[in-house]
Amino acid sequence: MKLLDNLYAYVWQGNDNNCNSYLFANALKDSKHLLVDPGHVTTPFYHEPGLDRLFQDIKNDGLNTRQIGLVILTHSHPDHCEAAKGIREQNGAFVALHKADEPVYKNLGGRVDLYLQEGEVVLGQQDTLRLDIFHSPGHSPGHITIYWPDEKVLITGDVIFYRSTGRVDLPGGSAKTLKQSIERLSELDIEYLLCGHPYGHPGIIKGKNAVQENFEFIRRNILL
Ligand SMILES: [Zn+2]
Ligand SMILES: [Zn+2]
Repeated sequence: MKLLDNLYAYVWQGNDNNCNSYLFANALKDSKHLLVDPGHVTTPFYHEPGLDRLFQDIKNDGLNTRQIGLVILTHSHPDHCEAAKGIREQNGAFVALHKADEPVYKNLGGRVDLYLQEGEVVLGQQDTLRLDIFHSPGHSPGHITIYWPDEKVLITGDVIFYRSTGRVDLPGGSAKTLKQSIERLSELDIEYLLCGHPYGHPGIIKGKNAVQENFEFIRRNILL
């Protein structure tokens, strides 16, 4: 689904757990695409086709999946990163991840081409896309969130959901650190909060007020 000019959102529609994916079309050199969190190849319990459905949805939007040249992973849990390996092998796409999440990714058989760290990333031949990468640990040690200042978009991965936050009981998780990460992100000017899962809500929160209300809800009810 086209969300903004060149930003497409793919909200997971299946019954099993899988992530939402986001695609910046034509953002790279030679009109290649940037894909954030491709998700599972096949979901673990109901064996739903995660990657096939994602690619079909991308094709239905008139985009060529062979043109995916870069995959950014918010973190290295399989429900976000599993499909990255195949896209790398098929397309020669680069895979980018924070170094602190690399050990887990390597255990899953993944290979990292680019390391992301806090700071600005400029993509495309004509500086088409400027993104601010935030290191946002707490759910995983190397979790990153992606802010697109031009359109005030924040891609949150498993840090923030609609009226919820990511788990902190998995390896490398920390409630205190997650709270700090979320408080920091709440200071950004955000019009679109794009979450990593559709938990009882598509996970796309639109409008400054709705985004601030979501932060307030989390602050009052979760980050105690
Ligand atoms: Zn996760
Ligand atoms: Zn997840």
